Amino acid sequence: MNQANNDWKVHLLRDAASALEQFRLFERLYRKIKGPRKDLLRTQSRAYRETVQAIQELIGPAVRETCPTCRPHCCHLSQPDLKIYIARVIGGFTLSDFLLARCDREFPAPDERNIKKNLCLFWEAGCRLPADGRSILCLEYFCDRLKAKIDMPQVERLLRQLRNITADLSLPACLGFPSIPD
Ligand code: SF4
Ligand code: SF4
Repeated sequence: MNQANNDWKVHLLRDAASALEQFRLFERLYRKIKGPRKDLLRTQSRAYRETVQAIQELIGPAVRETCPTCRPHCCHLSQPDLKIYIARVIGGFTLSDFLLARCDREFPAPDERNIKKNLCLFWEAGCRLPADGRSILCLEYFCDRLKAKIDMPQVERLLRQLRNITADLSLPACLGFPSIPD
């Protein structure tokens, strides 16, 4: 059992280390976006943040009532009780939603010390990311307790809108790379 636990920890540490490398690459790519490509990103980013804001307003009262005292909370890298494993993605970000959330503002640095505590690298007594700067993965997770207090059809509608905005961002156009032919 101890050996299995140890193997699991090694696995998690390895996943988190490569997630951090990937996140640093996202940041380097973001910094290369300039001029008209930045304008393209800005337009989509505004739509992304407005939609995230609308989701936060909808879920805010229930989150404030339920989440601060919840243990175990859902911002762990691995939390089998909640069927969560986000060690492979810092803050749950893909490149697209990272660029949309990050555009024109600084993000807090991921705290590497959290890896050994099995916590998301943006966690410090709550999420350190701006409320409208979360990833889709983080926004679409609701435990049953929270679901019971939220207008889920309305949230699902906004999540679909958010996924569409993210899918509409052309990464080749935004990053200035040629598209890969079909
Ligand atoms: S969403 Fe659910 S599991 Fe996550 S912190 Fe809130 S109450 Fe806890
Ligand atoms: S980015 Fe924020 S909301 Fe998402 S898992 Fe990390 S601390 Fe939680």
